[in-house]
Amino acid sequence: MLASPAMDTALHPALPHWLPYCARLQTRPLADIDLVVIHCTELPDLEMARQYGERELYASGTGNCGHFYIDRDGRIEQYVPLHCVAHHVRGYNPRSVGIELVNRGRWPHWLDSQHQAMDEPYSPAQLQALQQLLDSLGAALPGLRWIAGHEDLDREQVPASDDARQLVARKRDPGPQFPWHQVLSATTLQRLPGA
Ligand SMILES: [Zn+2]
Repeated sequence: MLASPAMDTALHPALPHWLPYCARLQTRPLADIDLVVIHCTELPDLEMARQYGERELYASGTGNCGHFYIDRDGRIEQYVPLHCVAHHVRGYNPRSVGIELVNRGRWPHWLDSQHQAMDEPYSPAQLQALQQLLDSLGAALPGLRWIAGHEDLDREQVPASDDARQLVARKRDPGPQFPWHQVLSATTLQRLPGA
């Protein structure tokens, strides 16, 4: 079955900004979704995150992206309909929704051993928008139960770009600035066991 993003309405309070390749993504029943994965873009702004999301990386004519992007001012855009499987985390895509928070992370030296701090805080507006979005997802997806950070689900260590003898985390997002306690205290979702 091909996706028909034009027939989809973005989940409130997100604004629709469908990626050009949505119709080429695999689809799934909404009942299969039980997990939200929190990411940060590790890019300077939403505009660049959009450019990265639009890149076609696979033979299927699709690329890597989350379903939702939350800017620093709390604006939420939806790039992919919920019934489409987005490529945002290895091994968990078919069952999950990806939420990307705009945050520099380790940009532009992601794998440099001297550049692993992720020190940009998440803004209050961004976290409030995330809370609203989690509430909306909970209402739209009866099977939704779990939440995890990308760093919980992809623990691969890779050689650092500046020194191949050192290992750094391939993924660290959303990273140490993400206020897990605050977020978990305001949602019925539970952090994925073992994550
Ligand atoms: Zn991520």
